[in-house]
Amino acid sequence: MACGVGSLFGTNGVRGLVNDTMTPEMALRLGKAVGSWLKAGERLALGTDARQSRDMLKAAFCAGVQSTGVHTFDLGILPSPGIQLYVRDRKFAAGAIITASHNPPEYNGIKLVAPDGTETSPDEEAAVEALYDSKKFRLAKWDAVGTHAIDHAAARHYLDAVLHQVDGAAIRKAHLKVVLDPGGGAGCVTAPDLMDELGVQVVRLSCELDGAFRDRPSEPSPANSKRCMEAVKANKADLGILQDGDADRAVFIDEKGNYVWGDTTLALGCLHELKRHPKGSTVCTAVSSSSCVADAVRMAGGKLEWTVVGSPIVAREMLKRKAVFGGEDNGGLMFARHQVCRDGLMAMAFMLELLAKTGKPFSKLVADIPRYALVKDKLAVPDAKKQKLLAAVQKEFSKVPGVKEVDGRDGVKAYLDGGWVLVRPSGTEPIFRIQGEAKDEVTAKANVERFKAMVSTLLAKSK
Ligand code: MG
Repeated sequence: MACGVGSLFGTNGVRGLVNDTMTPEMALRLGKAVGSWLKAGERLALGTDARQSRDMLKAAFCAGVQSTGVHTFDLGILPSPGIQLYVRDRKFAAGAIITASHNPPEYNGIKLVAPDGTETSPDEEAAVEALYDSKKFRLAKWDAVGTHAIDHAAARHYLDAVLHQVDGAAIRKAHLKVVLDPGGGAGCVTAPDLMDELGVQVVRLSCELDGAFRDRPSEPSPANSKRCMEAVKANKADLGILQDGDADRAVFIDEKGNYVWGDTTLALGCLHELKRHPKGSTVCTAVSSSSCVADAVRMAGGKLEWTVVGSPIVAREMLKRKAVFGGEDNGGLMFARHQVCRDGLMAMAFMLELLAKTGKPFSKLVADIPRYALVKDKLAVPDAKKQKLLAAVQKEFSKVPGVKEVDGRDGVKAYLDGGWVLVRPSGTEPIFRIQGEAKDEVTAKANVERFKAMVSTLLAKSK
């Protein structure tokens, strides 16, 4: 995996293989660039996930930042949303998260945080990258070099903020039983405490920090969730909860041991979060999200705004449109009343409150959300032809009989009766991703094949 496409920053900050592309030398240089981008005397807060390389990269990055006269505040191992909340609440000039999220343990990365707690914008990243490339760093005089402080209470700050958002008394009264599997990731620092403080009986799986993710890979996919699913059934638990490596996402298992897909979780969030807000409140999600999200927003009387794909983009759109809720179909939920970024701890507190207040089993709550079949395919397209082909695709799709609407904000999405097809150029590979959703798999597949053939013909015609 490279560090983005032809640039330092990819869609998730800087990411790479440890001691290959992600070296202490590059972390030091990036620290100098970030520090030079900030003002001398300003403060940067940072934390890490549980990876083995966390301290090596943190030390190098901090040294670089301090060399420019910017002070560093170390929050230790903490979920990404905990770091983002701290940056916002404690009014830091910036933040940094040393994490590779759900990637295997040999990877690591550095993500930057803006003062409002959202991930930095592409423009801000370009400014840092220009400094990184030029090596024109603003090094401080010996007596103005930045210092390093440690805050051991950052996890407490984060826990309190999440506890403040839910009805703790109601959850305690419900006597819930949960199987919790943070997978040895940063979620271990806060999720078990949240359960204890909410009076939830917990069956703990992989609740010890493990920088090598020995128990299970850090992506909470269905295949990696088998142990949790079995444990839910064996222990007759009300819910299973898994987290990814940096704990910005939570994935749920119903009381029958069934894996609940991220789009369903997102839709469930829409349906119940919107009830807390005035009719017509706005929700944001990416164009690639399932129609079940749109259905849930409609059921709750809300307004849905589709966005370009990528969690920082969804977050910024939420701020712009004053949305009350948003997220992605991978289990990343954003509650604006708490903070506008994916927050796994907040998502699990929300679902516990939902169980407690409705008194319904999780499978019943999930049954309120319509299911669609999603089919994914791809087509080889040389990078040089992508832009021109995409323009041709947009023109062509709008002429196809049965296409009700074409959305070109990110790739080309054609809305059909009871479904859609989305064609998006990959940012990392010479391919177009083609996905289609419909009420049943046969229709979704047929739609994807029909539209793929059209794109293929256009590609053959292009020079
Ligand atoms: Mg993550």
